[in-house]
Amino acid sequence: MTPAKRKITVLPGDGIGPEVVDSALAIIKATGISVDFEKCEAGARVFQKGIATGIPKETIDSIERNKVVLKGPLETPIGYGNRSANVTLRALFETYGNIRPVRELPGVQTAFTGRALDIVIVRENVEDLYAGIEYMQTPGVAESLKLISREGCEKIVKLAFSYAVAEGRKAVHCATKSNILKLTEGLLQHTFEEIAPEYPQIVSKHILIDNAAHQLAMRPEQFDVIVTTNMNGDILSDLTSGLTGGLGFAPSANIGNDVSIFEAVHGSAPDIAGKNKANPTALILSAAMMLRHLGEGKAANDIEQAVLVSLESGIRTSDMMGTAKPATTSDFTGAVISNLGKTSKLSPPKKYTKVDLPPYHPGVNEVPARSRRLTGFDVYIESTLEPAQLAAGLDESMSSSPLRLEMITNRGAIVFPSSGRRVSLVDHYRCRFVLRDGVTRLGDEEILSLLATLGRSHRWMHVEKLQEFDGEPAYSRSQV
Ligand code: NAP
Repeated sequence: MTPAKRKITVLPGDGIGPEVVDSALAIIKATGISVDFEKCEAGARVFQKGIATGIPKETIDSIERNKVVLKGPLETPIGYGNRSANVTLRALFETYGNIRPVRELPGVQTAFTGRALDIVIVRENVEDLYAGIEYMQTPGVAESLKLISREGCEKIVKLAFSYAVAEGRKAVHCATKSNILKLTEGLLQHTFEEIAPEYPQIVSKHILIDNAAHQLAMRPEQFDVIVTTNMNGDILSDLTSGLTGGLGFAPSANIGNDVSIFEAVHGSAPDIAGKNKANPTALILSAAMMLRHLGEGKAANDIEQAVLVSLESGIRTSDMMGTAKPATTSDFTGAVISNLGKTSKLSPPKKYTKVDLPPYHPGVNEVPARSRRLTGFDVYIESTLEPAQLAAGLDESMSSSPLRLEMITNRGAIVFPSSGRRVSLVDHYRCRFVLRDGVTRLGDEEILSLLATLGRSHRWMHVEKLQEFDGEPAYSRSQV
């Protein structure tokens, strides 16, 4: 019996989506591989039908069956629907790893032409500030929670190293802001440093994110793979797309626990939609990444080589600089098809092996501590009192408590005890209470009773416990 054909869910999407997706599908078909496409709806038209997520159930069912998606851009609704369909897809299928390779392409002139750039950004894609957990703590002070998990760090670091190994790459940099955000960004750095020795063939190095941005602008050829947190990765990966020619050339893969989505980095470009003008390169290269993920390495190489050969032959779409008479989307597609089987003079195919994806751990993943101790709490208070007045009032209401006021900060700066520094104050204070000398035990009941006392004279918004795990403080100390 012949095995069933592999099926891929295809979302043509909005704007230029259907044109660039059709281009990629025609090229995949022309490689001769045995694969079927299941076209499904998502995006603007679905929102307009009144489906608030922009993703109908039939599309979700198809993705769950096929596990692999080739996706055109989806418009973010303005004035209809609840949220972006892209965000819904990412959340539904937990595509935790965003992989964005960029490389110098023949004929695509940039400030870095001739420097053989070939860089991959591996971005954690579901945690961090982009979880969008936000509050207005007072009418004038906003808060966003940056949650980073050990599990999330392990998965993204292993994905980055596995990707490097599969592509025969030499180095992985981990880019973080761990000098300031010691616990959140620091968790990625520590996890990276723990896991790196499992990949002795790869050079591993930590770099501060600001330095990474500077180095990418000055000497980008020093980078191979960069792994980073969600927001840093969002910014760095757009920067690297800019280094190599821009949106029309930047492919991506979104790797999930069991579903992976391949798409161009660009959006629906409504200004050129339906005009047969869009550059399909980014989606064609995303399709090649998808085929490699499916184990169709030869077809993937053939497509990448045909794109390179086409660009070497001088064909240019309208977004490429210095084009007198640009090629249409269909012209470009035809050129790539006619060049299938040819090899680029400048960039012959690389050797790839299968990416060893990190295991999915179902259930609740716990990081146990051998010991824990509660040593105090921070409470956020809205007040127009001066710091010394606030401190005096707090001290008084806490006189019979096992806790004492250690410090008050305003927007992170210590304002009590006073350092004499001039701080521009807002009506939002963090007040830290710690165990008095000689007191060793603190329970939730003491904290709750203190909050009840405080609540009678102050407006408080938020509480964080101060804990020690394995004897180490599990909170940041104020530095200023
Ligand atoms: P965009 O669609 O990427 O387009 C910005 C500009 O870049 C276009 O106007 C066009 O410039 C050029 N461009 C982009 N892709 C091109 C291509 N393949 N070929 C030629 N030129 C290309 O960004 P946007 O205008 O900010 O976003 C439009 C919509 O797309 C929004 O609703 C946004 O939310 C959505 N979006 C979706 C995704 C996704 O689905 N993953 C990603 C980003 C944005 P010219 O003016 O030079 O023609």
